[in-house]
Formats: sequence, structure tokens, C-alpha cells
Amino acid sequence: MINLKNEAEMIAFGKRIGETIFPHSIITLTGDLGAGKTTFTKGIGQGLEIKKIINSPTFTIVKVYSGRMTLYHFDAYRLEGADDDLGFEEMFEDDGLCVIEWPQFIEDIIPEERLEIEIIKNEDETRSLKLHPIGEKYENYVREVTH
Ligand code: ADP
Ligand code: MG
Repeated sequence: MINLKNEAEMIAFGKRIGETIFPHSIITLTGDLGAGKTTFTKGIGQGLEIKKIINSPTFTIVKVYSGRMTLYHFDAYRLEGADDDLGFEEMFEDDGLCVIEWPQFIEDIIPEERLEIEIIKNEDETRSLKLHPIGEKYENYVREVTH
């Protein structure tokens, strides 16, 4: 469990992930509305040297940013109950990083191997992060980034 006192610490930890994550990777972010999923993604964007401002992709489902690696930023909230082929496979197979908010709504199409991050909003506005790596590459990565 990682405890982050404020928004600046959240951004800083996201930045570290953006700086160190390997190509062709998937990170899912779960947590309530306002937990800090998009804020964390802004930090990842800094680590990837993305110059554009990262905003919530709620209305577009996915936004694509170029940086050191391409960032595909998903918000699947509006896809609840959708069962079409949405054409995301190309993005999941790309050399970039996919960051997915509300992954539970497109669980069936997200590759199993991934880094799941759960963001918990505490009563005092601090946040706690739980990292659940799935697959050897992600297990090794989490060991390195949290030691
Ligand atoms: P989500 O994408 O999970 O709905 P956002 O990142 O859009 O959440 O919103 C989180 C909100 O909480 C922002 O307005 C941010 O300024 C605020 N906030 C306060 N404290 C923190 C913290 N420790 N970490 C992240 N966000 C925080
Ligand atoms: Mg969001």
C-alpha cells in the first residue's frame, strides 16, 4: 500500500510510473469518482514527457497523446453494458501505454496481463494506492518501482 498525502504526491508518483513503465503495457485505474484516476494519469503524462494537458476522456472514451511513448487514456464509464467490437485491440497491442479508467466496464476485452491500481480516497483527503500486478513482467516491474 502506498500512501499519498496530497495531489502533488499523487502526480509525483504517477510521473515516476510514466518515467519507468515499459512499452506495450496496460495500467487499469479503479476507484470512485473523484478518487484521483485522472489526476494520476496527468502525472503519468509528465513522466512520458507529454506536453498537452491531459483531461478526462469521459465523453470521447479514449484520448491519444504522443510523448516518449504513445499514451492511450481510456475512460470506459460510458461503455457500461456495451458489447460491440469497439476496435481497441490495436491500441492494446501497440508499443505505447494504455491507461484505463473504469476498466470494469470493458473487462472482457482488456488483456489479462496488466498492472491494476486501486485508488482509495481516505476521509482526510489523502489517498492510498494498492498495486496488483498480473503477469511476470508486471510483477517484476512493481517490485522495482516500490522497493
Ligand atoms: P477521478 O478521475 O478518479 O474521477 P480526478 O482525478 O478527476 O478523479 O479528481 C480528483 C480530485 O480530487 C481532483 O479535483 C483533485 O484536485 C482532488 N484531490 C484532492 N486530494 C487529492 C489527492 N491526494 N490525490 C488526488 N487528487 C486529489
Ligand atoms: Mg477520471
